[in-house]
Amino acid sequence: MQKPTNSQRFKPETRLVAAGRRFAEHGFVNPAVYHASTVLFPTVEACRKRDQEYTYGRRGTPTAHALEEAITELEGGHHTRLMPSGLSAISTALLAVLKTGDHLLVTDSVYRPTREFCDGMLSRMGIETEYYDPLMGGGIAERFRSKTRLVVVESPGSQTMEVQDVPAIAEAARKAGILTAIDNTWATGAYFPAIAAGCDISMQALTKYVGGHSDAMLGAVTVTEPLAERLDKAWNELGLCAGPDDTYLGLRGIRSLSVRLARHMESALKVAAWLREREEIEAVFHPGLPGAPGHDLWKRDFKGSSGLFSIVFKPCSDKAFSAFVDDLEHFGIGFSWGGFESLAVPFNPTAYRTATRWRFEGPALRLHIGLENPEDLIADLETGFERMRAGGK
Ligand SMILES: *Cc1c(COP(=O)(O)O)cnc(C)c1O
Repeated sequence: MQKPTNSQRFKPETRLVAAGRRFAEHGFVNPAVYHASTVLFPTVEACRKRDQEYTYGRRGTPTAHALEEAITELEGGHHTRLMPSGLSAISTALLAVLKTGDHLLVTDSVYRPTREFCDGMLSRMGIETEYYDPLMGGGIAERFRSKTRLVVVESPGSQTMEVQDVPAIAEAARKAGILTAIDNTWATGAYFPAIAAGCDISMQALTKYVGGHSDAMLGAVTVTEPLAERLDKAWNELGLCAGPDDTYLGLRGIRSLSVRLARHMESALKVAAWLREREEIEAVFHPGLPGAPGHDLWKRDFKGSSGLFSIVFKPCSDKAFSAFVDDLEHFGIGFSWGGFESLAVPFNPTAYRTATRWRFEGPALRLHIGLENPEDLIADLETGFERMRAGGK
């Protein structure tokens, strides 16, 4: 048998199973997990010339290259580098393309730590961030200045789930010679082919769906060919590399990504549709749900929806809200998402958004629908509503 190779002829699921397998050796299906710093050279001359594929642990191992190749396949880009977290993927990508004096446009719905990086380190470096309404689409061109270098999109947005017109934004940016970077963690390349949609840079927290089991911290940046060198330079200068065990967990996770995502999608849609019928619920923000905000754009641009969405309760006491969330059996209260288990996290966008206004008064809750049977999840949520009615007035 030959080692599986990739080809445009194959369907996406097949390509995700085959990607990066050429780095496996001795007939094993998977590549070795290289715990490595030093790589030995055979001679002084070879050392001086760095004349071999692997030269130092930080600069890559077969384990890292296998996952980089698989992520490039997933995102449809040219080149990928791994980072030790999703946030470091974002900060590295931004540092790779920005310099003092530059201006960048960032969606107001961006992942909050990305905002903290822009307002903190980028600002101290003399790089100016301007936040924009995620729903402004191609109209973003009005915000372009002579110093604008980058537009950051995230679709759907963190917590509030606004779907952006990414193709229109990316096209407007391209026409003006401005780069577009996307945080593609929610959909992954499986459900949103970001590079094909016009983005130059796709950033991802592999911690979420690629890892898929809440047991690894990992990130990746995928770029188009013209940006490969700049990405490598920033990645190298900052000294970033992902740990070998987490890299391997990413590689293990990506093999089952398509089946896991399909189940997250199906179950989340069931739970979201059920929640929308509840009288206690004011709004459900799940772009894959017909009639929900952003559904039309989602339908045009996405191939699927994942397991993460948000709900807003009708105004109620904090006691009632806590009574709902605290004693759920299957939904843990905690950050991150994308694992096999369901989660619930309260949020309040009014605390930090600057370009848009959150018009809801009731408490908001972000749900991650895991791989449990959705009937059990719905029964669990039903008990939450009963607890609200019983005591939490
Ligand atoms: C979690 C998350 C990140 C950061 O990933 P870490 O691996 O936790 O650093 C970035 N973007 C989005 C949208 C996320 O949800």
